[in-house]
Amino acid sequence: MSFCDFKYQAPKAKRLIPQWAKNWEHPERIPEIREALAEFRQVFEEPEADREKRLESFREVGRRLKLAFEAKDEYDRDLLLFEARHMNAIACSFLGVDRASRPDFVVMAKGNPLDQILYVTQKRLAKYMRICQREGCEQKYYFRDPGRHGQKFCGRILRGKRCAEIVNEMGKLRHYQESRKKEVLKQHWEQAGVPQAKIEKLLNGESVRFDD
Ligand SMILES: [Zn+2]
Repeated sequence: MSFCDFKYQAPKAKRLIPQWAKNWEHPERIPEIREALAEFRQVFEEPEADREKRLESFREVGRRLKLAFEAKDEYDRDLLLFEARHMNAIACSFLGVDRASRPDFVVMAKGNPLDQILYVTQKRLAKYMRICQREGCEQKYYFRDPGRHGQKFCGRILRGKRCAEIVNEMGKLRHYQESRKKEVLKQHWEQAGVPQAKIEKLLNGESVRFDD
């Protein structure tokens, strides 16, 4: 197995990348990033100011991942994912962030564990990047199932239900409320002596004259 095996990296990417995009402002919430930062602190005894710079670069990675999920076309998305890999290389550079972000060369991070995850995302998973269409979904960013072309919702289970089920139930509830409302209005108009033909029109949302 090569070190950047798709089967080995893809599950990691599917878990980590949406989390990173969602928490882009707080990369320290992600265990893999905390680990990388801890290593620089412990092994290289890096001062706090340098840690902050690395954190800022990790934030830039996450921001690009978020934009990649939101991208409308594949060209933009690919570029954003390339930039994310470059920003990650800066964040993880042994040179330190200042030297790694010099404008005269582009650092990349061959062999870096996060770069491998980003690589698999860019190369193999980019076309599956989606935003969950359920308003208020906590997961928001996800990779659609390769076998499900029309997938609109993420597969996250919240309180025993997936987003698709929640949306479906809300639709049914709305339908029930609508028909119940019409029933109550109908009774009200019948009691008021409105002719049946006019009631039908009213329920269909048509305008009716009451002065004829
Ligand atoms: Zn969702």
